[in-house]
Amino acid sequence: MHRLRRLLFFVPALLLASSAGLAAQIKGAPDRRPDEGEGPFDRLIIRGVYVIDGTGAPPVGPADIVIEGNRIESITVVGTPNVPIDEDGRPTGATRVIEAEGSFVLPGFVNLHAHAGDPRKAPEAEYTYKLWLANGVTTVRGVALGEMDWTINEQQRSARNEIVAPRIFNYQRPGSGKEWREQGRRISTPQDARDWVRYAAGKGIDGMKLGSFRPEIMEALLDEARQHGLGSTAHLAQTGVAQMNAIDAARLGLGTVTHFYGIFEALYKDNDVQPWPPDFIYNEEQNRFSQVAYQWNLIHEQGSEEWNALLEEFLELGTILDPTMVAYLASRDVMRARNADWHAKYTLPSLWDFYTASRTDHGSYYYDWTPWEENAWKQFYRKWFALLDDYKDMGGRVTVSDDAAYIYNLWGFGVITEMELLQEAGFHPLEVFRGATMHGAEALFEPKGEAIQFGVLREGLLADMVIVDENPVQNIKMLFGTGWDRLNDATGQVERIGGIRYTIKDGIVYDAKALLADVERMVDEQKAQREISDGS
Ligand SMILES: [Zn+2]
Repeated sequence: MHRLRRLLFFVPALLLASSAGLAAQIKGAPDRRPDEGEGPFDRLIIRGVYVIDGTGAPPVGPADIVIEGNRIESITVVGTPNVPIDEDGRPTGATRVIEAEGSFVLPGFVNLHAHAGDPRKAPEAEYTYKLWLANGVTTVRGVALGEMDWTINEQQRSARNEIVAPRIFNYQRPGSGKEWREQGRRISTPQDARDWVRYAAGKGIDGMKLGSFRPEIMEALLDEARQHGLGSTAHLAQTGVAQMNAIDAARLGLGTVTHFYGIFEALYKDNDVQPWPPDFIYNEEQNRFSQVAYQWNLIHEQGSEEWNALLEEFLELGTILDPTMVAYLASRDVMRARNADWHAKYTLPSLWDFYTASRTDHGSYYYDWTPWEENAWKQFYRKWFALLDDYKDMGGRVTVSDDAAYIYNLWGFGVITEMELLQEAGFHPLEVFRGATMHGAEALFEPKGEAIQFGVLREGLLADMVIVDENPVQNIKMLFGTGWDRLNDATGQVERIGGIRYTIKDGIVYDAKALLADVERMVDEQKAQREISDGS
């Protein structure tokens, strides 16, 4: 009997595992070497920078930022642009100075939808963490980052700065956790749901990543989570959306809706359930991911009563939309995604294999992809953009994440690509950065009933920040680890410029280019190993 219950449990667990990339656990990051990152310092002064504070305010400066330990001690405007800075009145007493005159500083980015992946893609977390940090990500919400105990361990090691990694928030799927599984328990009733939340809260997780549960289970999970100060985000998969769309879940207290699932379904004109083609089977992924796009003309128009009512209710409920548009970008132009500038140097061969079209690897669904699908996705993005932009305009929060690594979407680089997509949707870059920083932090601290500890550059908050030589308001692409091209008129040569110079996490200064060099070395090593095993 007990055995049978266990077996029954493992069937859905395996299904989840294949879609969450948790089939096996990757290797945790190695201990941080003394030459990796500098600091924290008693008194670090970053001099002469333009400050984008993350609240939506325009850049100010030149300013000097003083960091003591892992906290921002002060931010002082010390001059006027294009006028030499008078040394009088500038902060002094530094134990370390970064001369960064003319550079821009932003809060570190918060990636709200993060997975460390599985060993078939990238066997070591070091690779993933360094890609994130090199692209300015100082905090990730793992949904899940990995298995519960593994994530708790990585979270604690990151908090102590024993590893080179962003801060980690640990969101887990209901039903996960070693002890729970060992007891052979499943979530079949609302009481099971409450028991699991209590168990997981006792383990010290930060929140739940929800999928499709039937309404009474969802209600119990969200209610119990609220009582324990746990956050929530949901991928309202098409298998459950007929019973619960995004507004249904938001009314039960869901904090974040991730992806688009459940939102379009809440806006259907003439349907209740999506009118699937007769041969539709959910697990046939090309069909599944092309049918998403064919919803574009099923919904009420922008500006209609229904459209506005939905967004207004989300706003009233404080719902955060975390779209992960980058995760589906290949759907509207697979060739562009496959040929992104960073793949040659920074994508592991094992990850490349995973991305390659396949009927079994989750997300590699473009095995007979045509302009029909790409055009439908282009239409879909137009509607999606309009919805996100309207929500932002009325005061709603739209956040940034990468949901890598699937579908030619690489960790870290995906976060910056998501920012570009928000600009395409109609966001000013300052609104984009606010989504990636302050609003991301609010998503993490609000459920705990706490004020944000990072996400804004302000005295007293944690020193998590990004320094870049170029102006990211003028060109978001300058934040890509690979930088961007510009023609130098003096020499007539095209130069590769920009890319984040330093990522500061918890007062520790990481040279972003050195992190990328480590990533490149890991990629080269795997390539060399493959050549050896190929006998070439
Ligand atoms: Zn995901």
